[in-house]
Amino acid sequence: MIYFDNSATTVCLPLAAETAKRYMLEQYYNPAAAYSPAVQLERDISLARANIARKLSCDPSEVFFTSCGTESNNTALFGAIRALPSNIRGKGRIIVSATEHPSVYEAAMSLRETGYDVQLAPVDQTGRVRLDALASLLTGDTRLVSIMHVNNESGAINDIDAIYALVKRNSPDALLHVDGVQAFMKEPAVRCDMYSMSGHKLHAPKGVGALYVRKGARVKPYLLGGGQESGFRSGTTNAPGIMAFSAAVSDFSEHRAEYHGSIFAVKKRLFENLSRIRDVRLNGPEIGSGAAHILNMSFMGVRGEVLLNALSEKGLLVSTGSACAAHKRGKNRILNAMGIIGDRQDGAIRFSFSHFNTTAEADTAAQMIEEQVNLLRRFRRR
Ligand code: PLP
Repeated sequence: MIYFDNSATTVCLPLAAETAKRYMLEQYYNPAAAYSPAVQLERDISLARANIARKLSCDPSEVFFTSCGTESNNTALFGAIRALPSNIRGKGRIIVSATEHPSVYEAAMSLRETGYDVQLAPVDQTGRVRLDALASLLTGDTRLVSIMHVNNESGAINDIDAIYALVKRNSPDALLHVDGVQAFMKEPAVRCDMYSMSGHKLHAPKGVGALYVRKGARVKPYLLGGGQESGFRSGTTNAPGIMAFSAAVSDFSEHRAEYHGSIFAVKKRLFENLSRIRDVRLNGPEIGSGAAHILNMSFMGVRGEVLLNALSEKGLLVSTGSACAAHKRGKNRILNAMGIIGDRQDGAIRFSFSHFNTTAEADTAAQMIEEQVNLLRRFRRR
């Protein structure tokens, strides 16, 4: 089986799985308890927090563990808005890019229902936010801007440092949130007020994420209760998940250049192989300028879902877009925003890679794809 759907989720690193197992079977205490094994566990979690903070070049007190990227994104949007002073609450503008993941987009849409003027920042054909268009949307009453770091469908990388400067210049009262779920560890750290991360996109188990909140940024907790995470995120601490996340982050950090090189080699090889098939299009940035782990291509005259199913029968697992996106014809919000419509949208497939993939897999996969595309095109013509 060839797994090219690493943007949906990744296999758990054996080291991360073993770490989680140890914290489930041996150090299984509630770190909020007062006895010494629990105090030791609390210390381990502090080390994990400091480890993540180092990768973001921030203070450990600015990192809060959550259950996933979705929770981090929801906390950022709802928490920032709930922290607004009462005289301006329900008024003013929120800007999110047109290609945000549903966990940002749907949160913004629900804030629209409570009175905010929610605007979608347009993107170019590759999926990058257009800075000129964003600049013209930024008003004095803009409260919050949320822009993803790496687009999960096209692999486009937004220039977050430039966006941060723009937001602070045009809308000094606004906070900038960045969904870094597809970018954390894979792209250099950026300047922002909040940054979302998710463990399972980086070979940690599902059920753990984190949110960076800059000291001084006013953001209210989203989950209320026992006051864990310095009162910012209640709920019994997921020690196995957090320790495994930290182990996966350390592994990625130690091998960053090597992993990046091998991931990009697979992407490049698959792209070159697939480019030999007639009537294919690249959706997203030029091969060397997008994220190394994401490749989106359209096979004209073939329906993506049909191709996906045919490939899965043969043992190649890919995606027609975000696992959470609606799979109705012409309804891919992300590709629509990039101006990729009609046949090109219908035939789009997303391939996403990890350092566990090889160029030999890229060769085998390309052969399978070529055979299936030729077959499906023949059927279509009859
Ligand atoms: N943001 C982006 C860009 C994603 O790709 C995803 C998952 O696909 C998420 C957020 C949601 O992350 P999680 O699955 O951890 O909730």
